Amino acid sequence: MKVTDHFKNANGKTLFTFEILPPLKGENMRTLFSHIDPLMEFNPPFIDVTYHREEYVYKQRENGLLEKITTRKRPGTVGICAAIQNHYKVDTVPHLICGGFNKEETENALIDLHFLGIDNVLVLRGDCVKSEQRFVPEPGGHNYATELIEQVVNMNNGVYLDDEQAYHNGTGFCIGVAGYPEKHFEAPNLKSDLRWLKKKIELGADYIVTQMFFDNQKYFDFVNRCRAEGITVPIIPGLKPMTTKTQLTLLPSLFHIEIPCDLAEAIEDCPDNKAAAQVGVEWAIQQSKELMEFGVPCLHYYSMGKSDSVRKVAEALF
Ligand code: FAD
Repeated sequence: MKVTDHFKNANGKTLFTFEILPPLKGENMRTLFSHIDPLMEFNPPFIDVTYHREEYVYKQRENGLLEKITTRKRPGTVGICAAIQNHYKVDTVPHLICGGFNKEETENALIDLHFLGIDNVLVLRGDCVKSEQRFVPEPGGHNYATELIEQVVNMNNGVYLDDEQAYHNGTGFCIGVAGYPEKHFEAPNLKSDLRWLKKKIELGADYIVTQMFFDNQKYFDFVNRCRAEGITVPIIPGLKPMTTKTQLTLLPSLFHIEIPCDLAEAIEDCPDNKAAAQVGVEWAIQQSKELMEFGVPCLHYYSMGKSDSVRKVAEALF
């Protein structure tokens, strides 16, 4: 079922959903299910599965020269989505990125998803490869999420790359996109970022999921600005309970977000990570309660491969 239909069927009740990372290469589905199992009693109508692009590593050969190897540490998004749907009978939302794909490969991935009975995709540009400074599209690939949305919408209308004529059957994907309450780090200003966000909706995106934020006011302001720009689709808040002291500096550097002073000081004062995780859970519960009162259709938690804290938050709310 489409994500937007889940929202309609909820009749104003706030839903619980979460995002998981594919396990590291070499792990198996048991590892993944052990992260998901503790969260299933809170009835998530769908689970997001992230996509991780290739990285370059250098291995020293016997002759001393370095060999460049392309590797993906967390492959398997498509298979994992199918396995989750089959095992738990819940919908999945695979993340689909521009980076590393040309248009043909994107079309083939979407055809696979369609055959597997997956009705949703979160369409993203993706970040640059770790060793590069800026995002470089694949030859014959897409530069921005806007272009990838156009391809998905074409396929929804039965138009594939090899034919201008509409085929009989379209794919029918519900399309989610990313939004940034604290601005995407490359955007010159929030207004410009919102202009492109609006473009993504005009092209056919059905809902927005936000980058994580720790200050609800940033989300409220973002929603107000989106509505003022004429963006009417659901805007799903993305939340992450902080779990370690290191995340105090790691999360801002990775995701270009701010940690409010009160939270930062409380985490700094914690003697260890156990105490920090407790502070993180309490903060996320307060954030979630306020967002529920605001009437958000869904609270979406970034588990980042660990379910303990998300479970504690869900236990307090759902
Ligand atoms: P875009 O919407 O393409 O925007 C990129 C930048 O270009 C922005 O600054 C925007 O203002 C500007 N822009 C947009 N369209 C245009 C245009 N047509 N012309 C000119 N400028 C434009 N990354 C992964 O690799 N895998 C994941 O699974 C993943 N999941 C994510 C889930 C969520 C909810 C979020 C918020 C992010 C996720 N990311 C993921 C990270 C995301 O890929 C990066 O933030 C990336 O840098 C931008 O992706 P985007 O889709 O927002 O890009």
